[in-house]
Amino acid sequence: MIIKKLNGLSYFCFEKLSEFSEIKHGVFTRKGGVSSGVCEGLNVGIVPEDYDRNVAKNRELILKEFKGDYVVSTKQTHSKVIFIAKKELDTGKGIEADASITDQKGALLLIKTADCQAVILYDPVKKVIGNIHSGWRGSVANIIGETVSSMVKEFGSNPENIIACIGPSLGPCCAEFKNYRDEIPEIYWNYHTENNHFDFWSISFDQLIDSGVPEENIESSDICTKCNPDLFYSYRYEKNTGRFGTAVMLKE
Ligand SMILES: [Zn+2]
Repeated sequence: MIIKKLNGLSYFCFEKLSEFSEIKHGVFTRKGGVSSGVCEGLNVGIVPEDYDRNVAKNRELILKEFKGDYVVSTKQTHSKVIFIAKKELDTGKGIEADASITDQKGALLLIKTADCQAVILYDPVKKVIGNIHSGWRGSVANIIGETVSSMVKEFGSNPENIIACIGPSLGPCCAEFKNYRDEIPEIYWNYHTENNHFDFWSISFDQLIDSGVPEENIESSDICTKCNPDLFYSYRYEKNTGRFGTAVMLKE
């Protein structure tokens, strides 16, 4: 990944997405931003530990950085529901969904996480972007596969053209599931590493492959959030904390 520092903000970009000048994307670290206390920095998640006005300001900073028109942000509930933003100013506000897809220019798709994965999708042929929130529940529900299918159905995408990038999240080093026999279906038990740890990065990779995305189009950041709490909010590290933002937008 490539790190960019601009206007007090600091964010990571994927090499595979940086090839396309018609989109902006980034995984924002907690650097910069107006939140304080346990959420200090660029918190973009509505949480009890932060003021909504701070969250709004932080989201505004990202929008301004990308020169976007509006933020698309849904209420994430660990579902496999996908919000399709087909019209201008479809912001997803108040809608429960864990992925968004759009072909609208200037619409900044924002995913908020602290250990869960954000997965960015881009179809450079149909000019459609997607952004997914996939925690372990999302992994088990295969929201990644569902989102690729939605891009095919709603926008005529061919999975062979889709670029997919898996963001910083809980790595196999820290993804301990003591009760995995109760929580995680048996079909995923071969992703069990050792000492009740799971490799959710590989689950996402394989779900993308199963959806028809070519291996050479997939990039994983391989950065663990719990191992890097100075850069990212981590629920497992801090419990009461903020959410960092992963954003993608088609430029005007
Ligand atoms: Zn780790």
